[in-house]
Amino acid sequence: MEIVFSSLEDSNTRFILNGTTTAFANSFRRAMISEVPTLAIEDVRIYDNTSVFFDEMLTHRFGLIPLRTDLTAYVPVSECSCGGEGCSQCTATYTLSVEGPCMVYSRDLIPQDPSSAPVNENVPIIQLNENQKVVLEAKAVLNKGREHAKWQPTIACGYKSYPVISIDEQCDGCGMCVDECPRGILAIDAGRAIVVKDRLEQCLLCRLCERACLSGGIGTEPSIRVGTDESRKIFVVEGSGSLPVQEIIERALRHLKGESEDLLNCLTGISGGE
Ligand code: SF4
Ligand code: SF4
Ligand SMILES: [Zn+2]
Repeated sequence: MEIVFSSLEDSNTRFILNGTTTAFANSFRRAMISEVPTLAIEDVRIYDNTSVFFDEMLTHRFGLIPLRTDLTAYVPVSECSCGGEGCSQCTATYTLSVEGPCMVYSRDLIPQDPSSAPVNENVPIIQLNENQKVVLEAKAVLNKGREHAKWQPTIACGYKSYPVISIDEQCDGCGMCVDECPRGILAIDAGRAIVVKDRLEQCLLCRLCERACLSGGIGTEPSIRVGTDESRKIFVVEGSGSLPVQEIIERALRHLKGESEDLLNCLTGISGGE
């Protein structure tokens, strides 16, 4: 199995996973979404809230703000030496005090540890009118997306099988498939349909080209066929900014490796080492 990156930035990446199966690709996708920990606000102590929102609604909004996460600086509360009481090893603390009229933004959340500040400082939280006020203290902890979506490190994480397009000898170059394709994958060259260079990976697998070809009336089978190579998957991963996408990928793969080894050990134990 190999990964070939076509783009790799901190916030998003696109890569091809070669020599895989659909089962593994889906496990990998799920591991990136739900098995890589991030920081998210879990406890909020509200000292004053005269906004139009109930405390619960306000708190929910704070929980969904992506926070920068340094996984070398924090440990999950359950593994911390403080025994769950909350300390600087397992809990990031924030304060917020804003009085209207104004919009409360994520930048108003002042972190005790600057390395765990909100990813984007311009997330609007609530509009305060004259004489409305919000004063609170918030605590963020590490956890995983499988516990709650607020801990997911990804915004979008998906894959599709690698497209395979074949065009047979019957093609008369009518161009109907070219007109129908929403992604500009096809063109006419020397009287026949061809796949435009470097456009194949953009194919949506929608098969509109096949239908267009059939409606052209050349026999009962289309001259163009769209299939997939199930051993190659095109992944697109967009992070929330809590962690660099590269770290999300590495940690998800390490998680899968750990799970596989655990399973192998269990099976070896059951079979008595045979
Ligand atoms: S399957 Fe859809 S996107 Fe792909 S070549 Fe055909 S029409 Fe274009
Ligand atoms: S619609 Fe069919 S016959 Fe016409 S160019 Fe496309 S593949 Fe060829
Ligand atoms: Zn602790």
